[in-house]
Amino acid sequence: MRFIDIGINLTDPMFQGIYREKQVHQDDLELVLERAKKAGVERMIITGTNLADSKEAIEMATKPEHAGYLYSTVGCHPTRSTEFENYDQGPQAYLEGLRSLIKENPCVVAIGECGLDYDRLHFCDKETQKKYFQVQFDLAKETKLPMFFHNRNTGDDFYTLIKQYRQHFTHGVVHSFTGTMDEMEKLVELGLYIGINGCSLKTQENLEVVKAIPQDRLMIETDGPWCDIRPTHASYAHLKNVPKEEITLYVPDSKKKEKFEMGCTVKSRCEPCAIGSVLHVVASVRNENPVKLSEIIWANTCKVFFN
Ligand SMILES: [Zn+2]
Repeated sequence: MRFIDIGINLTDPMFQGIYREKQVHQDDLELVLERAKKAGVERMIITGTNLADSKEAIEMATKPEHAGYLYSTVGCHPTRSTEFENYDQGPQAYLEGLRSLIKENPCVVAIGECGLDYDRLHFCDKETQKKYFQVQFDLAKETKLPMFFHNRNTGDDFYTLIKQYRQHFTHGVVHSFTGTMDEMEKLVELGLYIGINGCSLKTQENLEVVKAIPQDRLMIETDGPWCDIRPTHASYAHLKNVPKEEITLYVPDSKKKEKFEMGCTVKSRCEPCAIGSVLHVVASVRNENPVKLSEIIWANTCKVFFN
């Protein structure tokens, strides 16, 4: 099977062995990429979470050896929205910075991640989040690029803004979706795609939602180094019938970060190679053939990001 990981935080220091600002093990990013390739990941879209991080993502994606393999989004995560106002030259210049990154780099395939996150209001209040979410729709309108959305626990606020700005963007995917059936249906009605990862598959209720997503609106991602599938999740039981030679590609033997050895994966640090497990859970929950489903998801993803 072949995959496109639409949401992978490759700029996260964990992929350089740094946890909470402490170097715990060697940088193994290139091995992470190698494992992903072996597991069938043919393209990845690195999530840009603010101006500096988007720049870093682009630098990684434009390395000649990563051409045609790594791509990037450019945008500002809701919990980082205060950066617009704290920026030396002001919010307009911050937006201009994002705009130039998008226009100057063909590896940029989406605007985002942007949206709302009310689970983490200690980083940024609602009003600031809403204000700078809205300015990012302009970037999509100007560039005609799709949007990569983040939404956590925002009641109707996210939906209301998406609806209000629906004419500004062609395609959009709500990544790491953990919302209710009703939320999913309303977003699908607006023509949006739904991105599923390990966090979207934690509970039985999550699985019911995944079952109901129309096939032509499904996408998958890992959101690594976050959102790994754990034995305590409702998803876990759906991996038991995956052939052993496949599962070793998606979930290779891991070691605790303190006992790291070059070439092994790190316990609970999610990697892009894990995307095959996400696919298998989604296929099993929906009672669909995994190979066929992976091709449909591949086509959905190309239609939005690589057309
Ligand atoms: Zn996110």
